[in-house]
Amino acid sequence: MEFRLIDRIRERTAQGRDDVRLGIGDDAALLAVPEGQELAVAIDTLVEGVHFPRDTSPADIGWKALAVNLSDLAAMGASPAWALLALTLPRPASAEAAQAFVDGFAEGFERLAQPHRLALVGGDTTRGPLAVSVAVHGFVPPGKALRRAGAKAGDAVLVTGTLGDAAAGLRLLQSGAGIPAGDPRRDYLVERLNRPEPRLAAGMALRERASACLDVSDGLLADLGHLCAESGVGAEIDSALLPRSPALLGLFDDDGARDFALSGGDDYELCFTVPAARVAEVQADLARLGCGATRIGRIVDGSGVRVRGADGAWLEPARQGWDHFAA
Ligand code: ADP
Ligand code: MG
Repeated sequence: MEFRLIDRIRERTAQGRDDVRLGIGDDAALLAVPEGQELAVAIDTLVEGVHFPRDTSPADIGWKALAVNLSDLAAMGASPAWALLALTLPRPASAEAAQAFVDGFAEGFERLAQPHRLALVGGDTTRGPLAVSVAVHGFVPPGKALRRAGAKAGDAVLVTGTLGDAAAGLRLLQSGAGIPAGDPRRDYLVERLNRPEPRLAAGMALRERASACLDVSDGLLADLGHLCAESGVGAEIDSALLPRSPALLGLFDDDGARDFALSGGDDYELCFTVPAARVAEVQADLARLGCGATRIGRIVDGSGVRVRGADGAWLEPARQGWDHFAA
């Protein structure tokens, strides 16, 4: 069904990959996993009004639906190859409106897919409240995937990029906070919300170096908590070390910027652990890759994540990050 829309997607997402033996158009795609590689697969769904604001542009939705999935591959140290796309679209006002949505969506999706040579190989198109599921497939050498388990007491905790920008961008969209569109700091934060950059090169560079890794989607405290639980360790974070963008620090006070960085969702940065002796080398490599990496704390025996405030005292564990299922 929806052949015309599917054709529009197909036309806009052509990628020549030898390992795609049969792409969009048949009952199933036929794909060849390169010899000697493991397949890493992940799927994530974005629902309008839950995972992106209602007035998000189709191109931003297309970008983000792919970005959040590529971020999962990045967190595993995998290199991306293929995607499936399940689109649930509301009944459009007109055929033109449906085409405009699909064209915009495909443009944003492809803008991110193209530089990573990711091929869209199939999907499904149905009617209903706007929701987008993307499944991604990537390759990783056997045994080399980055896991959440593996962090050891004494390891350093690092994050790529900066934290808190996306949550701050969402706050600005929702409340305005007196900052007009066109303010470059506001635009930067909203861009970080709508167009997260999956840290694929960083993830691959961390193979055989990071002892554990995940991507920060629900907020640093929540996600680092998952890494600690899987590794059977605890973590101590220094809030003064949290990497925060000039835009975030320019528009919010220090406590506000800290809370976004600790608990705000949607960052899609990598949080990882490395033996202390390898920190400098890893930081130099990730600086070369453009995203950089900041040491924010260390792994300790025990469990849970503790955060030291700027005054050196432990912060109350009040906010544990965005949780879709919180009351
Ligand atoms: P079937 O009923 O056999 O599942 P569909 O009509 O759903 O077939 O899909 C026809 C072809 O178009 C299939 O190859 C499918 O993978 C592809 N397709 C459908 N929807 C999408 C989409 N949103 N994005 C990419 N490919 C799609
Ligand atoms: Mg189908």
